[in-house]
Amino acid sequence: MLRIDSPLYQDLRRHGEETYPHECCGVLLGRRAGEARVVTGVLRCGNGRHDSPQNRYVIDPGELLRAEKLARGRGEEIVGFYHSHPDHPARWSPTDLAEAHWLGCSYVITRVAGGRAEATSSFLLAGLGEEDKRFQDEEIRVGGGEPAGAPARSQGELR
Ligand SMILES: [Zn+2]
Repeated sequence: MLRIDSPLYQDLRRHGEETYPHECCGVLLGRRAGEARVVTGVLRCGNGRHDSPQNRYVIDPGELLRAEKLARGRGEEIVGFYHSHPDHPARWSPTDLAEAHWLGCSYVITRVAGGRAEATSSFLLAGLGEEDKRFQDEEIRVGGGEPAGAPARSQGELR
């Protein structure tokens, strides 16, 4: 399970709207609580895939290093990553799995359709190594209570 406060959750979804029609990406900082990962910070990163930013993403190694340092300084760790799928489902692709290497971390994907964030899903990268790694569906719990997915937007949120 991935636990995240509503403002952080909204921020990572909004990031995908802002970079549309390109993929956004970023790092989730936080801590582990049993089987759950608790997000305490969303770190926006630039998409390093300038050749194909509409359907690929890569977090710059320098930015990743910065994220690790920041997490360590807070006594926390990297618990996940997020990116968007412009006009594609919030499901992982074979490329997403091939390029995921952080076992035990959450990979969050938001579908952004026509510039509007829709469903958000999270997948836990399970397995013991590169040979048997796999994504498992996991629940996102927003703000400690309400179920996530495609929350309705109130009028006040429209920009
Ligand atoms: Zn993807």
